[in-house]
Formats: sequence, structure tokens, C-alpha cells
Amino acid sequence: MEYVCVECGHRFSLDVNPWKCHCGGLLSIEYEKKPIDFEATAISKDHSLWKYIYALPFENDDCWRSITMGEGGTPLISLARNLYAKADYHMPTLSFKDRGAAILVAMAKKLGVEEVVADSSGNAGTAIAAYGARAGIRCHVFVPASTSHKKIKQIEAHGAEIHKIPGNREDTAKAAIEMVERTNMFYASHIYNPLFWEGTKTYFYEVFEQLNGKMPDAFIIPVGNGTLLMGAYIAFREMISWGIINKMPRILAVQAENCAPIKSAFISNKTKVEPCENKGTLAEGIAIAAPARGSEILKAVRETDGDIIGVTEENIASAREVLAHKGIYVEVTSAVNYAAYLNYISKYTELKDKTVVLPLTGAGIKSN
Ligand SMILES: *Cc1c(COP(=O)(O)O)cnc(C)c1O
Ligand SMILES: [Zn+2]
Repeated sequence: MEYVCVECGHRFSLDVNPWKCHCGGLLSIEYEKKPIDFEATAISKDHSLWKYIYALPFENDDCWRSITMGEGGTPLISLARNLYAKADYHMPTLSFKDRGAAILVAMAKKLGVEEVVADSSGNAGTAIAAYGARAGIRCHVFVPASTSHKKIKQIEAHGAEIHKIPGNREDTAKAAIEMVERTNMFYASHIYNPLFWEGTKTYFYEVFEQLNGKMPDAFIIPVGNGTLLMGAYIAFREMISWGIINKMPRILAVQAENCAPIKSAFISNKTKVEPCENKGTLAEGIAIAAPARGSEILKAVRETDGDIIGVTEENIASAREVLAHKGIYVEVTSAVNYAAYLNYISKYTELKDKTVVLPLTGAGIKSN
């Protein structure tokens, strides 16, 4: 298993502990995977994401067994005709980030790492802190000082050392990277470390299985740093290479209109993302003004014949209310996905007759 630089192709062994390449390029990961036997996984007694072990970077008897909390296997809720919501708030720390954190922390454990750094607007840090506690790994979690109190409490409860950084999300990232560079600690980043997507990709395996061996026509996916979106792209390419599907589902991405640098680049046909001004949004979990993986995200969306739209603050607030009246209480950031669906069906009227899946990325009680 090796990290590979997406710019120059340089390869690194995992023990070298790089977080990016000497050339400045970011890393992807390569390892041997076996195609999943979805007929077998569909009837497995294990409902967690670990039933897909042959396509994960671990062996059957690795240390993940002492770390897992049964993450994965979340319900697919019918919301309307052809529309499903996948309830990833049914996760140990109440957000989909547990998929990536379980894989990343288990790998850190396997590598003998004792202390990690992470930075996040909340949920990724919570997931790393929880799995770090399971693994006996000390965690330094950097968050913007403005992060919701409930998320900070949840991180601290797991025993992580919290570093509250004044300023915006980018200042928090800078502070975390400064510590990584100074100490050479393992950077348990959901943005820089591609192992995280080896976990988020399982969301898409599960949907395929839950729809009885069919992919939906489109997935609604929220984008800040692209944690779920990059998992989609990996899963789709794997499933095509295994001959399980012959066409990628469309990625219908969404950003908060008040912080939408990737949408701006997408509509002006650019291949690079320019940082934007964060005008302030209720969707704190995806308010990323300078996404490090912008180019990769744009490429993935375009390759699936996808699209990216923005939703307004009013759209977000009202979507959260409508969902709650359907029995579904999500954190404010997660309401973006339903708001996006409503906008997409007026943009593409034919979408009403297509199968669409949207994610419920975080639980309602996480928001202040
Ligand atoms: C992390 C997260 C997202 C997706 O954000 P990315 O920055 O693209 O990974 C969406 N909703 C919630 C609740 C999140 O925690
Ligand atoms: Zn390089």
C-alpha cells in the first residue's frame, strides 16, 4: 500500500508519514482490492462497513476489530416517490464522518502511531476523537473558536485536547498544519489523508445493496472539502472496474450560496478553485472558502455529468423545518441536502421520475 502524489506521481510508503508531496501535490492511495461480492454482503450478519473488508485497506484479523463501533449499515428512508434519504446520523458519533475516521484511526493504530493532529469544523474532529479514544491514541483537535458548543463538548468528552483557533476555518487549518510540521505527528486529516475516503466510499456500496443491486440515477452530495463526494467518485470507479455498474450515477453537489467557491469555478468552466469570501452561513459544516481538493472535486463532478448548485440561508432554514415535520431531525448543515433536492427538481423537472438519494449527514441535536 502506498500514497501516490496526484501531481507528480511520486510514491511514499505509509511509514514515511507524509501529509503531502515535496512538490506540494496532495496524496491519493493505492493498494490491492478485491471486487465485492454484493450478494454475499447483502446477507451478511455483519451490518457494519467492515463487511466490505476485501475492498478496504485491511486484513480480516487486523486491529480494526478492537476499534470498530459497528459504524455503517445506516437506514435508507423513503421520503417521496423515487426519493430516499440515507440516515448517516445513525452513527456512533452522529455524523457520516465515522466512516472515514474508523478507517483512518485503525490505520494509524496499525502503523503504531500514538498521537495525531486533526482539524475540523466539528464533526470530523469528533469522529477522530472518539475513534482515537477507542484506539488509545492521543488526539489534538483544532477547531474554529466559533464552532458549536455542543460539538466542542463532544470532542472534549472523548479526552481529546482541543485547540480553539480564532479566525476562520482556514486559520484553524494553518494552526493544525503548523503543529504537524513542527512535530511530525500523524495528520489524521479528512482532507489531506486519502484513507478517509476509503471509509466514506462505503456509503455508496450500501446504497447499491439497499436498492437491491441498483445504483440510483443521482446522488445529492454536500460539498465543503468533499469528504463524501470523493468517496462517491472512488466507489463509482471501483464498481465500474469490477463490472458491477456500467455508468456512473450523477453527482448533484450543493454548497451554501454564501460560501460557494467550487460552484463558482464549476459554472465558469474552470479547473481550479479560487478561494472565496465566506459571507457567513448556517451550514457551518460545509463553509470552506479555500477547499484544498477543489480541482479533484470539479473533475469528479464533471466526469459523472453532474452539477453543483448553491442554496440560500432561507432554503436551508426552511428545509430543516420541513424535514423535522417529516420526523427527521438533522443538524442545520445537513438540511442543505434536502434544500438542494428541492432546487434540483425545479432545475431538472425530469429528476422527479429518477431515483435520487440524499444524505442525512449529521444529527439535529448537534446544532446549537
Ligand atoms: C463534513 C460534513 C459535510 C460534508 O462536508 P465536506 O467538507 O465536504 O466533507 C456535510 N454535512 C455535515 C453535517 C458534515 O459534518
Ligand atoms: Zn509530487
